[in-house]
Amino acid sequence: MDDSCAVCAEALEWVAYGACAHRDVCSTCVARLRCICDDRRCCICKTESSIVFVTKALGDYTRIINDFLLLPPEPKEGRMGSYWYHEDTQAFFDDVDHYKMIKAMCRLSCSVCDKEESNDGSKRRGKFRNINQLKGHLFHQHKLHMCSLCLEGRKVFICEQKLYSRAQLNQHISTGDSEVDGSESERGGFMGHPMCEFCKTPFYGDNELYTHMSTEHYTCHLCQRQHPGQYEYYKNYDDLEIHFRRDHFLCDDEGCLAKKFIVFQTEAELKRHNTIEHAGHMSRSQRNAALQIPTSFRYRRSSEQDNRQGRGRTFRRDQSENQLSIAIQASLETAQSESTSRDRSSSAQVISDRVDLSDIDPIVQPFESLTATDPETTFEISSSLGEFF
Ligand SMILES: [Zn+2]
Ligand SMILES: [Zn+2]
Ligand SMILES: [Zn+2]
Ligand SMILES: [Zn+2]
Ligand SMILES: [Zn+2]
Ligand SMILES: [Zn+2]
Ligand SMILES: [Zn+2]
Repeated sequence: MDDSCAVCAEALEWVAYGACAHRDVCSTCVARLRCICDDRRCCICKTESSIVFVTKALGDYTRIINDFLLLPPEPKEGRMGSYWYHEDTQAFFDDVDHYKMIKAMCRLSCSVCDKEESNDGSKRRGKFRNINQLKGHLFHQHKLHMCSLCLEGRKVFICEQKLYSRAQLNQHISTGDSEVDGSESERGGFMGHPMCEFCKTPFYGDNELYTHMSTEHYTCHLCQRQHPGQYEYYKNYDDLEIHFRRDHFLCDDEGCLAKKFIVFQTEAELKRHNTIEHAGHMSRSQRNAALQIPTSFRYRRSSEQDNRQGRGRTFRRDQSENQLSIAIQASLETAQSESTSRDRSSSAQVISDRVDLSDIDPIVQPFESLTATDPETTFEISSSLGEFF
């Protein structure tokens, strides 16, 4: 078995799955999500599963429940027919030992009270209905906190989670060397939870931080191409634009500024872009000369790719100038209506724009609004050609 859990990447020994049948996540991760984060969605397809089934992961031989409706109805904690049911995670197990293990892991109890009780022999162990109740108890009774990042990220029993005073918790998060963490940080492992310096928010680990940075903040696609593997982030697009202006060649045209990411590595590329995109003052022969430069390239910006067919126009080279300008006028109108709708949704498009631009070759980018195939036959003009006039 070389399968690994899609969440924690550890070897997949026990798998938990719901009716959607995605058998890719280990039982500990599923239990932690359901029990601590109160998240009952499948990690793969995001379908909510009221019930999950836990069994040994055996690849093609993994026990498969095809119809979850055939599981015992209205189950109660403990043995249910040939299975064991765990209420807190709403999971059926076909193995009693693994059931007991997950049950112990999810047990919501106060480790401070547990210790006192075992010392004086009393047995009035209070059970907490959910994690928030336990957190409330810890704070009100003992003035202690659990680290919520560790609670969601660390694969240990809830009762094994470390408890911190407010000051210790702050130290734990920022440097990892609080009194409570002691030996663990001396061994050089934990250095505190990494922080997004822009948002001042800590994340459990580097993976979680990276996911945040790549979805919430910006990198320069030009710098990244020059120094692959080196990630420099900008808080928002405005900051990135300042960098574009200072270190690269940004097109200052209003329309291009609104489109974002119209920036070039060299002055020559910017000039070529200006010729193609903003050449309203050129004579017709100059413009025709400019249009003959490109030979074969294509542009890929997925948001435009789908409907390019509809908006773009195809010409024969030898068409009369008159037809050409009618067509260009038409695409100008398209461009205007399109740019207003784009402005409204610009914030939502930022991520996809950024992703798509990163794989556009910088030489190709300036010509993105033109698609020429064979100079003898046809070339295609899409909306941005409107800027010629
Ligand atoms: Zn896992
Ligand atoms: Zn699923
Ligand atoms: Zn307590
Ligand atoms: Zn922590
Ligand atoms: Zn951030
Ligand atoms: Zn840059
Ligand atoms: Zn421009």
